[in-house]
Amino acid sequence: MSAPRYATAELATRLRSAGERVAGSGLDALLVTPGPDLAYLTGYDAVALERLTCLLVPAAGDPLIVVPRLERPAALASPVGTLGLDVHAWDETDDPYALVASLLPGATAVALDDHMWAAKVLALRAAMPGADQKPGGAVLRELRMRKSPAEVDALREAGAAIDAVHAQVAQWLKAGRTEAEVGRDIADAILAAGHARVDFTIVAAGPNSASPHHEVSDRVIQAGEPVVVDIGGTMPSGYCSDSTRTYAVGDPDADFLALYQVLETAQEAACQWARPGVTCASVDAAARDVIEAAGFGELFVHRTGHGIGLETHEDPYIVTGNDLPLEPGMAFSIEPGLYVGGRHGARIEDIVVVTDEGAERLNLTPRLLAVVEA
Ligand code: ZN
Ligand code: ZN
Ligand code: ZN
Repeated sequence: MSAPRYATAELATRLRSAGERVAGSGLDALLVTPGPDLAYLTGYDAVALERLTCLLVPAAGDPLIVVPRLERPAALASPVGTLGLDVHAWDETDDPYALVASLLPGATAVALDDHMWAAKVLALRAAMPGADQKPGGAVLRELRMRKSPAEVDALREAGAAIDAVHAQVAQWLKAGRTEAEVGRDIADAILAAGHARVDFTIVAAGPNSASPHHEVSDRVIQAGEPVVVDIGGTMPSGYCSDSTRTYAVGDPDADFLALYQVLETAQEAACQWARPGVTCASVDAAARDVIEAAGFGELFVHRTGHGIGLETHEDPYIVTGNDLPLEPGMAFSIEPGLYVGGRHGARIEDIVVVTDEGAERLNLTPRLLAVVEA
């Protein structure tokens, strides 16, 4: 994957903000191993390996990074080099956990990134027995949830790329083909549209469409069946796409058409409702109220959406009970679905980003049921 394209100045701001949050949380440091938090803070998209690579963001003083000697050139070639971070390389027979401990003498509380491997968490605990370990998500969530203009641009680009794939899906859907065959066509197109990686290809036909996280199977698509197509990938920028459209191969039955009509109204209502100041829970309710009023409440078995950025699923979650108010720059999915077990289901999903007045949809392909020739 090529390096994310944010400017060094933006990364420096993120590191500084993270340091302030570390200090404000009464922590001595935040420790970050390879993963989305490291990419967010430094632009270094390191592969997670058994050897320890670890960014230290202290409450006071400059951040620094501990890397295996053989990873040092890769670290310096990433924005870590231009950020001017102090790079501490450890040799093959050194104890990198003791090195981290020596860099944080007397620490009594450290936060660890949410994706850190358990083996590393436990090794750090052993090396720093006097330091309480806390979840790093609490420190970084507030930063990562509010996307900068550069991040919104990256998400918009990801949205356009997955839209280009949905624009071609109808031609691959035919009665007699399997879900897996269609999934392979889609995976090729996800890469051709500019993604660096395919993250998922859900092609759920007929009764499988009633299973929200069905992927693909060798089931042969039959005439008259709905097909839920939920697809996404990661762009070279590191930002993710995720969009669902529901298709029908030949004319579906009347029950399905009635259900789809309610779903489309619900998805639109939630997209119209999303704006600064309203809560995440209220966006979920905007979709759910339409569905409940139509008598389909029990068919909507999941939350309305999830945040998206360097990860496909991240904060904020659009779910009952989440009273977080939306702010400009927050990006998330709006994806109500209706599922009748054993029969059929449907879902419509757009990524939206909160603007000053409302929410901009980043997925723009038509949301009307796409009936393709069987
Ligand atoms: Zn999901
Ligand atoms: Zn989603
Ligand atoms: Zn999705």
